[in-house]
Amino acid sequence: MSFPDRVPVPDEVLEIARVLEEAGHEAWCVGGALRDTLLGDPHSDYDLATSARPEEVQRLFRRTAAIGVEHGTVGVIDRKRVMHEVTTFRRDVRTDGRHAVVEYGATLENDLARRDFTINAIAFHPLRREWRDPHGGERDLRDGVLRAVGDPAARFREDYLRVLRALRFAARFGFTIDPATWAAAREAAKGLGRLSAERVREEWFKGLRTARELEPLVRLWHESGAAAAWLPELRRAETAALPPAERSPAPRDPVLLTVLLASDPAGLLRRLRASNAEIARAEAMVTRPAAPESGDEVAVRRWLAAVGSAADDLVELHRLRAGTDPVWLAALTAIRQRGDPLTRGELAVTGRDLEALGISGRAIGETLADLLDSVLENPAANTRERLLALAREKS
Ligand code: ATP
Ligand code: MG
Repeated sequence: MSFPDRVPVPDEVLEIARVLEEAGHEAWCVGGALRDTLLGDPHSDYDLATSARPEEVQRLFRRTAAIGVEHGTVGVIDRKRVMHEVTTFRRDVRTDGRHAVVEYGATLENDLARRDFTINAIAFHPLRREWRDPHGGERDLRDGVLRAVGDPAARFREDYLRVLRALRFAARFGFTIDPATWAAAREAAKGLGRLSAERVREEWFKGLRTARELEPLVRLWHESGAAAAWLPELRRAETAALPPAERSPAPRDPVLLTVLLASDPAGLLRRLRASNAEIARAEAMVTRPAAPESGDEVAVRRWLAAVGSAADDLVELHRLRAGTDPVWLAALTAIRQRGDPLTRGELAVTGRDLEALGISGRAIGETLADLLDSVLENPAANTRERLLALAREKS
């Protein structure tokens, strides 16, 4: 590695930096985009840090969004309507493990010193093409080491979320955690209860989405004590059915992976205050039959009718666990392509038709269930005449 002379900072970001500098302020690229660029994975979210106060940033640009003015961040919207984050240099004056009270009038050095890990505390001047790396982030990137900036114990006490961020970044880049940082993270894990469920959920989901492989992520959550604090249902990596990393070209689905990795995923997601829809999905995946009884179309239709909207999740879960498509997938695809009826709503008769035959009360629901069963067995039976005849027979 070592610092490249060129960094693919988009023209729009260069332009923002130029405006700030011409107004007499400093403007530096900071954070994740530089880290990723040095790792050979450049992208376009180059956040800027500046000596300008938020009000000055708002004054200097025509279109801005107050996305986090209370912590110094203004979104500057460029000609293409893309938003770029511009954050005023900050210094922490007080922290309580969750929130920091920040102060402006700080230098770039102050600002880099309050960042979490050395690999996230590198700055690049996009106009002068100068690098600033006071905490040795480039060396740590080269060595594959995640290390807190400054005294790790103090840094984790300031903001316990950093413990979870450490696990996430280590698993995402396949880095080892520096021994002093690791010891401090394990000690600080005792304070993780202070975090809000929402922030923990965000970190857990991001971790699942970005980990190179799930095994190290799960192991780190256990070994740090973070799993004991927040995800006691998480299985040990050795016992969980972990899909190999290369099986995830599509964006990973954190709810599905939580079901794969935890013994009571719905309980876990409820604790993390996931949405009702996410909790219901997890609940369905564990309570519904995991697969049809056989690969024949009747069995697959019966299963589809029983699992309803959970079908695709269960197929994907099967794929993750087995590493291959289920054998009954071909039957399922054929059934869907033909549009075979699978619900009462798709039957060629309704409850009213049954009432007209003199069927009433609970018998209506029971008859519809019987009719659906016949149709699942033989979709060709789904005509009005045949179903009415069947209903007459049964009543
Ligand atoms: P990602 O790819 O996950 O977005 P990132 O490094 O950009 O990675 P962000 O959460 O977007 O992470 O934060 C941007 C930068 O802000 C980080 O690189 C880091 O310098 C700093 N930062 C973010 N969260 C914290 C924190 N809790 N404590 C200290 N610094 C932080
Ligand atoms: Mg980011």
